[in-house]
Amino acid sequence: MKTFDIIVIGAGRASNLAKNAGKAGKKVAIVEKAAFGGTCPNKGCVPSKLLIGYAHVARAIEESSRHFIDAQINHIDVAKIFEETNKHIESVDPAYRRKFNENVEIFEGVASFVSNYVVEVNGEQLTAPKIVIATGTRPKKPEHERAWTSDDIFPLLGTPPKSITIVGSGFIACELTNFFDAIGIETKMLVRSQKLLSNEDREIGTIFKEEFSKNIDIAFDTSIERVAYVDNMFQMNLVHKDGTTSTHQSEALLYATGRVPNTDTLHLENTDIKTTARGFIERDGYFETAVKGVYVVGDASGENMLQHAAAAEVNHVQKVLLNGKAQKHTFKYMPHAVFTDPEIASVGLTEQQAEELGLEYVTSSSGWLASAKAQSLRLKYPRTKFLIDPKSYKILGCHMVGPESSSMMHQVLAIMHLDNDVRHLKEMLYIHPALNEALLPAAVKAIGKVRASLQK
Ligand SMILES: Cc1cc2nc3c(=O)[nH]c(=O)nc-3n(C[C@H](O)[C@H](O)[C@H](O)COP(=O)(O)OP(=O)(O)OC[C@H]3O[C@@H](n4cnc5c(N)ncnc54)[C@H](O)[C@@H]3O)c2cc1C
Repeated sequence: MKTFDIIVIGAGRASNLAKNAGKAGKKVAIVEKAAFGGTCPNKGCVPSKLLIGYAHVARAIEESSRHFIDAQINHIDVAKIFEETNKHIESVDPAYRRKFNENVEIFEGVASFVSNYVVEVNGEQLTAPKIVIATGTRPKKPEHERAWTSDDIFPLLGTPPKSITIVGSGFIACELTNFFDAIGIETKMLVRSQKLLSNEDREIGTIFKEEFSKNIDIAFDTSIERVAYVDNMFQMNLVHKDGTTSTHQSEALLYATGRVPNTDTLHLENTDIKTTARGFIERDGYFETAVKGVYVVGDASGENMLQHAAAAEVNHVQKVLLNGKAQKHTFKYMPHAVFTDPEIASVGLTEQQAEELGLEYVTSSSGWLASAKAQSLRLKYPRTKFLIDPKSYKILGCHMVGPESSSMMHQVLAIMHLDNDVRHLKEMLYIHPALNEALLPAAVKAIGKVRASLQK
């Protein structure tokens, strides 16, 4: 049996921990069953956002008449877009491997536990007093063996399809649908309910649905009853909520209907590590599992499922393991964005969550058109919404829909992190007329509402 100081299982974000532990002189084993770098750079955030760059330009040309410009797309070289994206993906695994020094031993294969501190890979046993589980998630298996998930399209292989059907309503489904549609592939989205992005604040979600549906062919309240693959086409029988049925066909079929943890591969039944009913690994405020010295970070815990969360968790455990200081970690705020047309950004509580929690709050919601830069976009829908604590001016939540929402949100995030008080958004100077000015009316309105509530 080989003995290490630290074993890292899963070379996604946690490969940084392995790299830094190796640099700090620790003897480290890192086990990975697929590409080093994990989901984000190989099959997730990065390639999907590279695609969105192409979608944005295509949409801008499609919508140029809004600016009295008569332009049209003559040709989109989809094969070249796929090739460029694949070039990035191919570079990831070797770049990650190069980061490790001689103290880090790479094991390629599936790791599974033999006991609390013994892990087996390809029949070889490894042990360490500290083990970091960072095994992430994988897409739910599609209902037809030839159908794709987001994992199957990165790298994008073969000839791009002429038509695609995408099943799902979450952020991955929306981002991929937007891309395929924008680059001219005949795209249809199938959504089981009436909702898209159901976790977003309902006001912002409603605007999103209205705007997103303008570009995309979406069948709401619709599921696939039966699917067959005949003559290189998926032939689908669709069933609608009102009981009617219809048929639909496309060259490609992609399911983006959720993700499941990879913990089934770990044989946790051989350990005292506990999992939730959905198979995610339970942990305490130190990211430690029920077994002392065994930690879980990133998507494998099922808590945040975002790359920036995984990165922060890995950094924290790294500090614990390398500096020996056990400290609890809680995220003050967990922002996220959906990189579609339109773009959404969000942090903190939605109005539905505040209601469910029975919290006191005031809301303020404003369009962006008071800002000249926002006016130049010639879009009426962009909007900012705040939820504020009526007793303290504290921002409980902020939600935006509109171009560059994800960038604009960082201003709100900075205030929330430093000294959470919405009044700072009014006190500060804005570069006139930067897009961020569009935040001001909602902030000013919110301040007025809190003042009124305090005077009652
Ligand atoms: C299409 C898509 C778009 C996304 N876009 C965004 C975005 O815009 N912003 C954002 O914040 N997040 C986004 N995410 C989520 C983000 O990718 C994840 O939150 C992040 O990658 C989680 O990192 P991780 O290290 O926990 O897991 P992963 O990166 O998934 O790494 C886990 C690794 O463990 C390996 N592994 C699993 N089981 C074993 C085993 N038993 N033995 C050995 N190795 C094993 C896997 O092969 C994998 O490489 C997106 C995800 C997808 C799928």
